[in-house]
Amino acid sequence: MTGKLPALGHFVHGKTVAVTSGRSQPVFNPATGAAIADVGLASVEEVNAAVASAKLAAPAWADTAPLKRARVLFKFKELIEKHHDDLAATITREHGKVFSDAKGEVIRGLEIVEFACGIPQLLKTQFTDNIGGGIDNWQLRQPLGVTAGVTPFNFPVMVPLWMAPMAIACGNSFVLKPSERDPSASLMLADLFKQAGLPDGVFNVVQGDKVAVDALIQHPDIKALSFVGSTPIAEYIYSEGNRRKGAYPLRVQALGGAKNHLVVMPDADLDQAVDALIGAAYGSAGERCMAISVAVAVGSVADKLVEVLIPRVRALKVKNGMEADAEMGPVVTGAHKEKIESYIDQGVKAGAHLLVDGRGLSVTGHEKGFFLGGSLFDHTTPDMTIYKEEIFGPVLCVIRVPDMAAAIELINAHEFGNGVSLFTSDGNTAREFSRRIEVGMVGVNVPIPVPMAWHSFGGWKRSLFGDTHIYGEEGVRFYTRYKSIMQRWPETISKGAEFTMPVAK
Ligand code: NAD
Repeated sequence: MTGKLPALGHFVHGKTVAVTSGRSQPVFNPATGAAIADVGLASVEEVNAAVASAKLAAPAWADTAPLKRARVLFKFKELIEKHHDDLAATITREHGKVFSDAKGEVIRGLEIVEFACGIPQLLKTQFTDNIGGGIDNWQLRQPLGVTAGVTPFNFPVMVPLWMAPMAIACGNSFVLKPSERDPSASLMLADLFKQAGLPDGVFNVVQGDKVAVDALIQHPDIKALSFVGSTPIAEYIYSEGNRRKGAYPLRVQALGGAKNHLVVMPDADLDQAVDALIGAAYGSAGERCMAISVAVAVGSVADKLVEVLIPRVRALKVKNGMEADAEMGPVVTGAHKEKIESYIDQGVKAGAHLLVDGRGLSVTGHEKGFFLGGSLFDHTTPDMTIYKEEIFGPVLCVIRVPDMAAAIELINAHEFGNGVSLFTSDGNTAREFSRRIEVGMVGVNVPIPVPMAWHSFGGWKRSLFGDTHIYGEEGVRFYTRYKSIMQRWPETISKGAEFTMPVAK
């Protein structure tokens, strides 16, 4: 326990609930380095209480007409808009990203709520009149019951909103286990859901760590779990969920880590490509799963690209994210800062050329904050750890290749396949690249191609475990079960038992 800091607890059955496990950890303001709250870490019993609340609420919510569920979501949307600045300030206070970026995060989450408001239309299915013998055939998309979400630190509002509004719109109840590093935003969302008129127990929050996550995976009443976070944990959750014994195996979608490349072709507009790289590599201090961490310089473009990048990286305005002109805030914790620094050390030792070194940055007035400047490596090679692993910090590695075929081969050989971007002015190059690249989300002259709410988000390879992408129509599929119904009425039933396979007559 960390003394007199405000204690952050759970939200169960419409109420905030104090943590009883006796376990907790500090939450930091990354800009000052100071602990600002103490978040409880749930015991198995506390998780079970949240699941019991969700189970109690599930049947009535499943029976609530989709249009009525949508009306609650419309109110929730209005409340998020009303509290936009509060939510964004909470993100900046615990995550560190700059306030304008935090506001953008809230909007990208809000878009999923807007999409989920269309649930009556999304749950509509197909009907075939008279397949034969007076029989009609149609489908239902039914809710699963209690569902759960486990979310990462880097989007404390947006990622929970990728999950909960979709699950709830589909008629499920939901238990959220947010990141213990920035847990406050989830409690604000819970409060807004309540104000919107969501019945108690339909949305619950349990704070916690591995103990809580394991309890959710193993709980027989949880029917589906969405996870977003790093690849080792995604893989663990996916395999544990699949192994779970019981009447239902756990349905899991587990989105993992990334190493996103931006390919600069010799015919690209260099200024546009550099603007894109600076924003996508250093925005949110590189702590985005769609951040660009590798610039693939094709052919003759490399020297010029690096020459233009160096002064831009040096000029990044790294400050407390609440300052109006800040371009990059601190990273999330002191431990994460050290991890990023150790990657930079490894890159230097492996022989990559460190052109801009972001280590050792001190921000006046925030000397204890978790700040790093932007770092830039050139002559990175595919065997280096800084290329192979996700650094998740403000570090961009330039890698030089002779042509587009080599760029595609390089990217396709990487274990991650979340996002990729190509800068070119040639339509055929763009078309060929988009078709041949083995990555889930592709941007052509778009550095961060996060799909819109109705297009579903997800990577390939070790960036996603499971069959469905998240939100959009894939989200509706994930949070519902399909049922086919055939029906006829006594007047059309002919006499006698039939022993042959039924066929249309
Ligand atoms: P993380 O994997 O450390 O944590 C994610 C969640 O898992 C948290 O709620 C955490 O409490 C829980 N967790 C941590 N260790 C666990 C364990 N041993 N067992 C069970 N649960 C555990 O990830 P993070 O550092 O919070 O977030 C950054 C990572 O998330 C990056 O790898 C990033 O690429 C990834 N991410 C991916 C996407 C995507 O859409 N693919 C989006 C955002 C972030």
